[in-house]
Amino acid sequence: MAVVKADAYGHGAIQVARALAGEGVSFFAVATLTEAIELRGAGISERILVFAPPNPDELRTFEEYELDVSVTSAPVAELVMRSASDGRSHRIHAKVDTGMHRLGLGVDEAAMQINQLLDTANLEVAAVWTHLATASDPEDAFSLEQIQAFETVLQELDARPGCVHVASSAAIFSLPSSLSFDYSVMVRPGIALYGLLENVHDIARFDLKPVMTLRSRVVHIQDLEPGATVSYGRAWTAVRKTRIATVGAGYADGYRRSLSNKGRVAIQDRSVPVVGRVCMDLLMVDVGPQDGGNSDVGVGDEVILFGERGPSAAEVALWIDSLPHEICVSVSNRVPRTYVDSLVEFGGSQDPAGPVFV
Ligand SMILES: *Cc1c(COP(=O)(O)O)cnc(C)c1O
Repeated sequence: MAVVKADAYGHGAIQVARALAGEGVSFFAVATLTEAIELRGAGISERILVFAPPNPDELRTFEEYELDVSVTSAPVAELVMRSASDGRSHRIHAKVDTGMHRLGLGVDEAAMQINQLLDTANLEVAAVWTHLATASDPEDAFSLEQIQAFETVLQELDARPGCVHVASSAAIFSLPSSLSFDYSVMVRPGIALYGLLENVHDIARFDLKPVMTLRSRVVHIQDLEPGATVSYGRAWTAVRKTRIATVGAGYADGYRRSLSNKGRVAIQDRSVPVVGRVCMDLLMVDVGPQDGGNSDVGVGDEVILFGERGPSAAEVALWIDSLPHEICVSVSNRVPRTYVDSLVEFGGSQDPAGPVFV
């Protein structure tokens, strides 16, 4: 079950779903009904699960678009049973809250409620599922407690659901017990589809290749004397004579303001630091003294903010206590997407003459 919510983590849900369907993916997941309808509108005919529970007036739409329904609480279970008794057919995924405490049927009542669902005409219990709170930390025993609670619920069922699904990306790679049940098993990878994991070392270890590259260009160059300050709030001061490159990207493009004085970008295959505050449309980097370092950096040079030949989105995330998920979804609508050989490259005009933004 390929997770393409939030516009496929900023990569473009329609393009990603089409590419994955072409590779044989037969099941997608999105967060909201609106996202699912967008995929159907683009001709995606594979199964789609909507993670969010339905509102009472939405079940008709779920049926119309043939979308799988998440049953995440007793009231939602009541709702779909009523809809089924009104003659509508639904494929449902009964979610058990085994400790994440976000959505799901409480473990104590889950089996009883799922048994009722299994027994309801017009309802197909396509899956029973749960979500782990600590999958990104393989040392944490809480995942095993959650899986144990999940198994207990499964054992109390009167009939077999179509399948079970537990693992998101981190668990797929580091928690084998989330993959083996006495049922058909699906997995729910999101970030790994895009070539990333939270753990930077795992990206290399499992040979993942980040799909998205966010790039821009140098739009201005200046040489500063010691003592000169850069950007709003004067949060960075030159301690030596140095050359500063202004880059056409800022927080309105999704390059987070919290990367001020923390981020690094790649220019001419060298890593250079972001200096001073990131602005809405621009940021500054220190490309080094004019008599050494990157002194030959010039206007129009390509700047890799993250992706191929630059830091990975997972590294960027580490600098600001974030996740590669958040770094990717933050790339804003203003940034033109270019699709290359079914790999996504983000970037603007090739023409270095005008002002160039990512
Ligand atoms: C977003 C999401 C996923 C995917 O998580 P990744 O860490 O991106 O693999 C899986 N399951 C649920 C319920 C989610 O909300």
